[in-house]
Amino acid sequence: MDSKHSGSCLCGAVRFEVAGDFERFYLCHCAYCRKDTGSAHAANLFSSTATLTWLSGEDRVRVFNLPATRHRHCFCSTCGSALPELQMEGTLLKVPAGSLDTPVTLRPDAHLFGSSRASWDRVLETIPTWEKLP
Ligand SMILES: [Zn+2]
Ligand SMILES: [Zn+2]
Repeated sequence: MDSKHSGSCLCGAVRFEVAGDFERFYLCHCAYCRKDTGSAHAANLFSSTATLTWLSGEDRVRVFNLPATRHRHCFCSTCGSALPELQMEGTLLKVPAGSLDTPVTLRPDAHLFGSSRASWDRVLETIPTWEKLP
């Protein structure tokens, strides 16, 4: 049953492996996640049983803890890409879906913080899609 996933940052310095299954997949629209992703929402996979192993670049991994909140953002200090991290005193592994190089087969379970959704993030399926740059 145990799956293996691997991922990396944009510059390639940080590489990691996750052994085990994800239990939840959430799209978080809270103001903190919109800031630290620079986008409409974060897309994070969660597991209470999977293990994270850094294969390279662990020295570039930084964690920003927003004071007086539980919001944490883990990233590569060279390229800024979001990276996995252990939350809740090391009991919950959070993995940004976009950081994985292996396919994500889970479908997101839910949108979180729908009340903080960006004003432009509405019915986006109806705008045109270009397969590459227009
Ligand atoms: Zn990087
Ligand atoms: Zn959030």
